[in-house]
Amino acid sequence: MVLKNILDFDYEGLQNYLTENFGIEKYRTDQICDWIYKKRIFNFDDMSNLSKETRKTLKENFIILLPDIVQKEISKIDGTTKYLFELADGNLIESVLIYYPSRTIACISTQVGCPLKCKFCSTGKSGFVRNLTVGEIVGQFLAMEKDNNININNLVYMGMGEPLLNFGNVIQSVNIFNDPKMKKLGARHITISTVGIPKMIEELANLNKEIRLSVSLHATTNLQRDKIMPINHAYPLEEVIQACRIYQEKTNKRVTFEYILIKGFNDSTEDALRLVDIFKDMKVMVNLIPVNPNPAGFEKPSKKFVDNFLDVLVKKGIDAVVRAEKGSDISAACGQLRLRRLSDLS
Ligand code: SAH
Repeated sequence: MVLKNILDFDYEGLQNYLTENFGIEKYRTDQICDWIYKKRIFNFDDMSNLSKETRKTLKENFIILLPDIVQKEISKIDGTTKYLFELADGNLIESVLIYYPSRTIACISTQVGCPLKCKFCSTGKSGFVRNLTVGEIVGQFLAMEKDNNININNLVYMGMGEPLLNFGNVIQSVNIFNDPKMKKLGARHITISTVGIPKMIEELANLNKEIRLSVSLHATTNLQRDKIMPINHAYPLEEVIQACRIYQEKTNKRVTFEYILIKGFNDSTEDALRLVDIFKDMKVMVNLIPVNPNPAGFEKPSKKFVDNFLDVLVKKGIDAVVRAEKGSDISAACGQLRLRRLSDLS
């Protein structure tokens, strides 16, 4: 009999499954979730308030499947920790743990590889393999908590892959993270980062959750965006922005936009002014990110250009920051660790 990964289940799903198949009392689900999600116990034998019988049933039918750590790099500068995880089928994914004075952020993956092939991104370079299961998404977070013996209080779906192309599993994992009986992470501490798939953004808005939406814009015209993000051919800028406006209206939440700055490509005063124009009547937050090392060889603009870009936005009343670079001494950019590993192996 194939063991089920218990991390695939949301609270209700687990409770129903345990009651219907094994007659396990409903309150037992609370206890099991408490061990896994609050006490970081990943072994049924150690769940001491369960009866022997229940533990046996769980062991015979379930596993608590965390991914294996195959490599770990810790930044000497700020402690940022990048994990390369191996999944049960041998596939590799990356997750990152980032420390700020008042919070820790887990950055997790949603796919093995990515189908979108953004030019500046290392993940797309190695192609798309498959979507992650719910348990694999949740497992990354729990594995990082276990490894550091900490509670992580913020979560961004900003690792490898496109979360909105694995919508069902991503939302199920959000429910698990958010559920007070499970990880109990406030929805406002959860961010989904996307290239911007209009239909799915609207679906997300309809779910009426308090999760934050972050959109990787990176350009101010279709001509420009087409050159670095092939997905823009299918979903042009104006459709993405329109969906963001709908998201904002329905959720009353401001949308965050990520804008990587590439030297001589999208870093001029004109670009900044076009961005201001795109955001008129919207409540937005803009993260400017001087581009990290990347397969296309794009370079960061000089500090003068970065400062000027920020200055133009701020003077026009837009909330914007230059995102502080984290873990710059380790393989900082998305997908780099896995790419290096894959090329070592080949
Ligand atoms: N597919 C989603 C989430 C994964 S990428 C998305 O596109 O949002 C996470 C973030 O890292 C995105 O904003 C992406 O554009 C950014 N990113 C990828 N490669 C980068 C690089 N070389 N430098 C800076 N940011 C990069």
